[in-house]
Amino acid sequence: MAKMNYKKRFADLEKRIVVSPEGEEFEVDPMKDYFADAKPKVHPPSKIAPLEKFMNWCRAESIYILAFGTGCGAIEMRPLSSPMYDAYRYGVAWRATPRQSTVFVIGGYASIKTIKRIVRSYEQIQGPKWVIGLCSCTINGGMYWDSYNTINRLDHYIPVDVYITGCMPRPEALLDAIELLKKRIKEGRGEGANEYAENYEWYKANQKKIIKSWDMPDYSW
Ligand code: SF4
Repeated sequence: MAKMNYKKRFADLEKRIVVSPEGEEFEVDPMKDYFADAKPKVHPPSKIAPLEKFMNWCRAESIYILAFGTGCGAIEMRPLSSPMYDAYRYGVAWRATPRQSTVFVIGGYASIKTIKRIVRSYEQIQGPKWVIGLCSCTINGGMYWDSYNTINRLDHYIPVDVYITGCMPRPEALLDAIELLKKRIKEGRGEGANEYAENYEWYKANQKKIIKSWDMPDYSW
């Protein structure tokens, strides 16, 4: 297979001088201009306890799932939106972009190629945000535990709020995990995003250890 020339592929992302229609020259640095290079921040709860409780209730009852099937377990998400399970009645909806989502469901095993997209997508979700690891593969690698190109523990790369065991778990298990996540959010215990911000260096080091071609900003929200 031909070796990917990253330099050529990402030439558009290199610093360059551009000229405005008025003839004025200025420098463009796409890696800085297109992405934020600031580290994520810890968001403390509101000092007004009833307000925080109300906001947590709102957050828990508006679960927007990022529809991104990483492995075979993701197929169990489809029945949830069918009339048989009708997850919409629990305030659950699916979105096509990280910008509109609050919950990232990792639907099964994650290859090293996929983890790169998982990290970027996770970081692009606006906070507060949560992660559900669906299937045994996200917990310990499952049947791919000794594979050369899949990761074993998802929570070494992004924080996971709720794990679901099984290969593959039934849709009811995913509904149950969503209910558990809602309970944790309402109790103010859905702290994955803050944990990511607090242990940012540790997560980044783990990610860079396996993603050899690191050609993206460190934090891409
Ligand atoms: S646990 Fe089973 S169903 Fe889930 S991703 Fe792994 S192999 Fe697929």
